[in-house]
Amino acid sequence: SPLLRADHVSRIYDDGQVQALSDVSLTIHQGEYVAIVGPSGSGKSTLLNVLGGLDEPTSGHVLFKEQTIRDAAALDRLRSTEIGYVFQSFYLLPTLTAVENVQLPMFETGLNARQREDKANELLETVGMTHRADHLPTKLSVGERQRVAIARSLANDPIAILADEPTGNLDSKTGVEILALFDQLHEQGKTLVVITHDHSVAARAQRTIEVKDGQLIRDTLLTEVSE
Ligand code: ADP
Ligand code: ADP
Repeated sequence: SPLLRADHVSRIYDDGQVQALSDVSLTIHQGEYVAIVGPSGSGKSTLLNVLGGLDEPTSGHVLFKEQTIRDAAALDRLRSTEIGYVFQSFYLLPTLTAVENVQLPMFETGLNARQREDKANELLETVGMTHRADHLPTKLSVGERQRVAIARSLANDPIAILADEPTGNLDSKTGVEILALFDQLHEQGKTLVVITHDHSVAARAQRTIEVKDGQLIRDTLLTEVSE
């Protein structure tokens, strides 16, 4: 079923000097694993940010489960609980330990301190980071930082994970380990939308969306998606 839909979305920056997206329409279905590819500056991050409610279209609409995101409350809910985000540079808070970083999104929900910590420890176990729970990010390898960031993206049981170049700062061996983790999340039913420059990342997805000059130029389904 449709999960995220862009309906004639454009995004213009700098008073019209940059058209990052031009009239883009697409639907991402629940359970899909989608790779977004294309040259640098083609609009991939803008597309992901708009789909995930981190940026606002200049025109057009974004729909979540066929509902237009209309008010601030719906946008908040989308960002804090429906969607998890993973970035190239992790964005962990340097003064908090791994387990504390994973708990950050949970302050939006009704969990108490004990529940937050238990949940964060479970998520660290999922990403193979139990033994590093009390380490600060600076004491972790880059691959371990990305594992913590992935655990944090799962904090509120999102239906979808949106990731912007998640292996961009990792060596290829570490990147492959992170990709295996994404495969595992996909098998568990998460919808994944991943921006990548890396063909080996794109090859793992079921669908590849190619962006160029702010437009979708190709949308390739590699495997049948079961609904
Ligand atoms: P990609 O992710 O494919 O590298 P982006 O979506 O980051 O592409 O950028 C698309 C275009 O929009 C680029 O020309 C970029 O410089 C511009 N752009 C992106 N974000 C902003 C912003 N916040 N302000 C101004 N221009 C931006
Ligand atoms: P990516 O690795 O995704 O291509 P970029 O370096 O293009 O990353 O962009 C990183 C961030 O900076 C994005 O969130 C984007 O919106 C913002 N950005 C990109 N280009 C510009 C720009 N010309 N002015 C302001 N912000 C920009």
